[in-house]
Amino acid sequence: MYEFADREIRPAVREMDEQARIPRQLIDKLFELGVMGIEVPESQGGSGAGFFHAVLAVEALSRVDPSVAVLVDVQNTLVINALLKWASASLKQQYLPRLAAGTVGAYALSEAGSGSDAFALSTRASGTGDSFVLSGRKLWITNANEADLFIVFANADPDAGYHGITAFVVERGFPGFVVGKKEDKLGIRASSTCELLLEDCRVPRGNVLGDIGKGYKVAIETLNEGRIGIGAQMIGLAQGALDHALRYTKERKQFGKAIAEFQAVQFELARAATELEAARLTVYNAARLRDAGEPFVKEAAMCKLFSSEVAERVTSLAVNLYGGYGFVKDYPVEKLYRDAKIGQIYEGTSNLQLQTIAKQILG
Ligand SMILES: Cc1cc2nc3c(=O)[nH]c(=O)nc-3n(C[C@H](O)[C@H](O)[C@H](O)COP(=O)(O)OP(=O)(O)OC[C@H]3O[C@@H](n4cnc5c(N)ncnc54)[C@H](O)[C@@H]3O)c2cc1C
Repeated sequence: MYEFADREIRPAVREMDEQARIPRQLIDKLFELGVMGIEVPESQGGSGAGFFHAVLAVEALSRVDPSVAVLVDVQNTLVINALLKWASASLKQQYLPRLAAGTVGAYALSEAGSGSDAFALSTRASGTGDSFVLSGRKLWITNANEADLFIVFANADPDAGYHGITAFVVERGFPGFVVGKKEDKLGIRASSTCELLLEDCRVPRGNVLGDIGKGYKVAIETLNEGRIGIGAQMIGLAQGALDHALRYTKERKQFGKAIAEFQAVQFELARAATELEAARLTVYNAARLRDAGEPFVKEAAMCKLFSSEVAERVTSLAVNLYGGYGFVKDYPVEKLYRDAKIGQIYEGTSNLQLQTIAKQILG
């Protein structure tokens, strides 16, 4: 996977960042590689591998480009994961082969007024015979530009509070569904982040994912797993930055010798490598527990919290060690520094991870 990323992605990273897009040809290569349907059974055209493999793929891709990594991450750890766990047999048969073959998926929970307080969402679903009609707006939806399939959360019974929240599988072509404005971002610029508009969008009743009113469970459980993927993205990009810093400090000469020969620089690199190793183990541990069917909610929150902090520190150090060259776009580390910031925001901010960890340890 890393060789693929090095060969096929690295040459395009700067242009993708500048143009804020991932070319469709590259996405097609990801499908050919089998990395867009890692957990989809082989009988449905997927790779038939496990969650841990998805985590390793996201980490490897993120060493080269965290934007491509998050496209793969959302596809596997959120969209396919949710379908595998919650979809009816016919929904699985309808959509999993497509997701493994060429359809990009997206996961639409957040809205302008509901981020951390996700279950305060105001998108509504009303049931009419064989279908539901969805109305509302979603914000910040990763992959929305490329996606043809969206898991959309709407409240079908607002009087029941979060017990009315229901997940729907929505195709881009359904009437009343529009992908709106694309955000211009600080980091992971090539990954699309868009608004979704649902204007009396008609969705077949059979496209309810899980049961009506169980969307909150779909969201909580999927995001608990998804944030291990974000941990993987963060350790991957931190490794990418550290690799650059190791190479550069051995080449760059000041005061007549390579800057890696100064003990102060060596100690900074050693500390970064140690922190990264610790972060990697929190990610692998959470993934291992999840695959073993053991409780992993606390560990998943810890891995995302810690990995995103380590990623910020390691990428910042890489910029420092490049000196002035670290601050300009001709060198790769300023981008990784920008990319690292998102790890503390999406799939639950760091405060929300702390809240989860506190709840778990206080009982
Ligand atoms: C690039 C990008 C991609 C995204 N992709 C997706 C996607 O694919 N699908 C999707 O559904 N969403 C997506 N999101 C949305 C993301 O999950 C939310 O932005 C995030 O959950 C935070 O919500 P918010 O932006 O409304 O911030 P807010 O919830 O308003 O939080 C603002 C600040 O207040 C703090 N805060 C809020 N509540 C509390 C509390 N109770 N205690 C302590 N502190 C608190 C937060 O920690 C944060 O620092 C994406 C966002 C971005 C930027």
